[in-house]
Amino acid sequence: MTKLLILNWKMNPATLKEALSLAKASDYKNVVVAPPFPFLEEVGKVLKKSRLGAQDLFYEEKGAFTGEVSAKELKSVRVKYVIIGHSERRHKFDETDEMVAKKMKAAAENKLIPVLCVGETIEEKNAGKKEAVIERQLKIGLFLYPRPYTLNPFIVAYEPVWAIGTGNPETPESALETIKYIRKILNAKPYTLNPKILYGGSVDSRNLRDYLKYKEVDGALVGGASLKKEEVKKMISYV
Ligand code: PEP
Repeated sequence: MTKLLILNWKMNPATLKEALSLAKASDYKNVVVAPPFPFLEEVGKVLKKSRLGAQDLFYEEKGAFTGEVSAKELKSVRVKYVIIGHSERRHKFDETDEMVAKKMKAAAENKLIPVLCVGETIEEKNAGKKEAVIERQLKIGLFLYPRPYTLNPFIVAYEPVWAIGTGNPETPESALETIKYIRKILNAKPYTLNPKILYGGSVDSRNLRDYLKYKEVDGALVGGASLKKEEVKKMISYV
């Protein structure tokens, strides 16, 4: 199966000029580029092969929600994918599983492809709670509200919180085991869901192949390394 690379720029770069230059260097098939909101429309115009992603959305359709962005607004600038429940949203902005579920619902209803991020903190890992945390995040995120997931595609990204932006990635073997565990939950009756499942957390051009070599790992969500053109060029040659 073709592997997918999602490039999460987070709150970078500082200017539209830099964003367009990075977007041009990231424009390859099997790549989703997720720039900050202000750059979405212009970045979308320069992407010919890769798809446009947003880093978040708000679940209401419109109205008095200062600072928020709706699914319809994202669609209007040709966004196709949206990252939901990223660990920085969960842990720096106190996003709850219920908010994540509402965002998943809004994305699905508007035919955006949601990328549901799940993953444990270091405290949860050390307390032996990794599986329970992931199961809870998946079940609330996907099933709190009924929606046509059997019809609409979605993606899951396994991102251990302690591995994000730390230069300390989960080992490929352990990431593989967790991805198999996620697949098992999504395939247990009454569910028969078969999304792409990605790994994310300090992935770069040196370690990407160690994850992608497993057929169960459908790709990677990359933060820091997605801001360096040379890194992007190398990583793209592996998907
Ligand atoms: C991310 O932003 O989801 C991420 C995995 O970041 P980094 O690659 O920098 O760890």
